[in-house]
Amino acid sequence: MKLCRFGENRYGVVRDGQVYDVTEHVAKAVVAAPLQRGDAAIANLAAIVRLVEGAKIGTPVGAANTTKFLAPVINPTKIVCAPVNYEAHITESEADPGITFNHAVARIDKAGLFLKASSALVGPSEGVAVRFSDRRTDHEIELGVVIGRECRNVSEKDALDVVAGYAIALDMTVRGTEDRSFRKSIDSYAVLGPWLVTPDELREPDSVDFSLKVNGEVRQQSNTRHLIFKTRKLIAWASNWYTLYPGDIIMTGTPEGVSPVAPGDVMDCEMQYIGSMRVDVRAAAVYTSDSHASEVLVG
Ligand code: MN
Repeated sequence: MKLCRFGENRYGVVRDGQVYDVTEHVAKAVVAAPLQRGDAAIANLAAIVRLVEGAKIGTPVGAANTTKFLAPVINPTKIVCAPVNYEAHITESEADPGITFNHAVARIDKAGLFLKASSALVGPSEGVAVRFSDRRTDHEIELGVVIGRECRNVSEKDALDVVAGYAIALDMTVRGTEDRSFRKSIDSYAVLGPWLVTPDELREPDSVDFSLKVNGEVRQQSNTRHLIFKTRKLIAWASNWYTLYPGDIIMTGTPEGVSPVAPGDVMDCEMQYIGSMRVDVRAAAVYTSDSHASEVLVG
């Protein structure tokens, strides 16, 4: 099943290029279950699938290629990311001080994983808002793994049992000397979409072709078979350090071809078994380090 969130926070299922509204099924499944840490819809995905498959799907509310998709997860407790997880990306990083800022590139077993703030998360229709126009913001396309169950100390053998599904992820990055979590947690710098594909439609995460184009030109093109630490190992490793909760996202790492984007650019992302999404790049509101135009958002 392809579960999406679209428009003004509606849930949908995508079938044969059409979007069907299943918000009522999601609400029913969520209300029937106790509250728990993490994303409510993802925590109750099995119940949602049963409700959707047991009902008439109704009439589509739109074509997938004209629907504005939000991230299929609202409330991950964390976004866990793998750095330096493709050999050819390590090679290009070592050759480009604009990526490394002359810091030595550690291997992933030494670098560990890092966390991205969940507040950075957006869907493809929301686009990426580039902050700090005097700094370099790069695209990093990655296979995104969405965790379906609270778990810890998961073995590699059992790792795929805790997966709710997969989506295309963009680990947008400001290059610089600061910690990764600081540079990669800016609002809109975590894109997930266009929907979540359940594992019955993507059975082997170690063999997925994907590509990213900027303004029609291919920049990144690889396959997850080139991952240094494969998906099962990343799930096992992350869950050995942190309890994982429903909706938590693992961004598995990016291959070679990272490059800067600027306002006005268009990123076209494609991933085998999942689909494609277009993400527009715009400029964020302009802030300086000493400006305090507070935006206090309250209901
Ligand atoms: Mn990355």
